[in-house]
Amino acid sequence: MKFILLLLAAGLVFSASAQPATKTRHLFIITIDGFRWQEVFGGADPLLVGNGDYVRDTALTRQLYWDSTAVARRQKLLPFFWSTIAGKGRLYGNRLLGNKVNVKNFYKISYPGYNEIFTGHTDAISSPNLAINNKNTNVLEYLNNSAAYHGKVAVFTSWNVFPYILNASRSGLPVNSGYQPMAEPGDATAGLIDSLQVTMRQSKTRHDELTYLCAREYISLHHPDVLFLGFGETDEFAHAARYDLYLHQAADIDRMIADLWFMVQTDPYYRDSTTFLITTDHGRGWKPNKWTTHGFWAEGSGDIWMAVLGPAIEPEGEMRTKEQLYQKQMAATIASLLGNPPAPGHPPGTSIFFAGMKMAQ
Ligand SMILES: [Zn+2]
Repeated sequence: MKFILLLLAAGLVFSASAQPATKTRHLFIITIDGFRWQEVFGGADPLLVGNGDYVRDTALTRQLYWDSTAVARRQKLLPFFWSTIAGKGRLYGNRLLGNKVNVKNFYKISYPGYNEIFTGHTDAISSPNLAINNKNTNVLEYLNNSAAYHGKVAVFTSWNVFPYILNASRSGLPVNSGYQPMAEPGDATAGLIDSLQVTMRQSKTRHDELTYLCAREYISLHHPDVLFLGFGETDEFAHAARYDLYLHQAADIDRMIADLWFMVQTDPYYRDSTTFLITTDHGRGWKPNKWTTHGFWAEGSGDIWMAVLGPAIEPEGEMRTKEQLYQKQMAATIASLLGNPPAPGHPPGTSIFFAGMKMAQ
């Protein structure tokens, strides 16, 4: 009842009164750091895939990821995106079709991007990308503080700055980042993952594969309803000017997301009631000599994409509608997908309406 009153207070109405607000009971938010829309929609970039400055074995990389058409190339690079998501979900951000997703913040780097995704804010940040606690409240803690999702939210990320972006010390969110151990006493798999983690050459970004294994084991042990899984190595390989490894990592992440979807759809707890929202924190330079970097100085860094897949999403595949969406709308969209209207005064971005959500915007 309170939920309905809040909706009415915000001037919102149900489009079809008798239908449930949403069929999504569980939401997995997945981010691929600094992964460009160019590769999502066009696969391996013709201007980069044969460039010896960025690709160690151009013949092999072309063998793996090249084809004459963008449609064939993207299918090779991201088979899960272009089979299951294209068939049952939606992919936003193909600018060649006029469907645009952009970051709204000025910086176009990671901390402000994740801040925009999870808090809906695009405000000035004094020390971008540093381990400083975020003053903004995020949608994950908002959900974790709600009666419906309390204690059912979990975060696993490769980059070790997330405890600060999500202000874990204030928000109380369980955030496993960098090479933080799982620390699940009595669980043999978690014990193996932890013993492997301590042997790794540790940097600020954990291997995505390990982040994924941690998340996967946590899901099977605890069945969280809201999960944020943040992959990070695509951005690392791009900064290292290794286009071959950047492609390879994207393909690997596609495989991990496919594995996660398979896990979800074969588990009665999650089956047909779980939505995946997949996106990125920022784009990168579009010019062949600027793809390694990103920021307000690198043209194209604000251009991003988003993919959604789940029971509440009307399948439309690659979106062809001419429209402009913003990253700052994602926090409200996350809340709306779970049937929760954004808390008063927060987040500022309006929810993205997916036809089939059975909920008015
Ligand atoms: Zn970066």
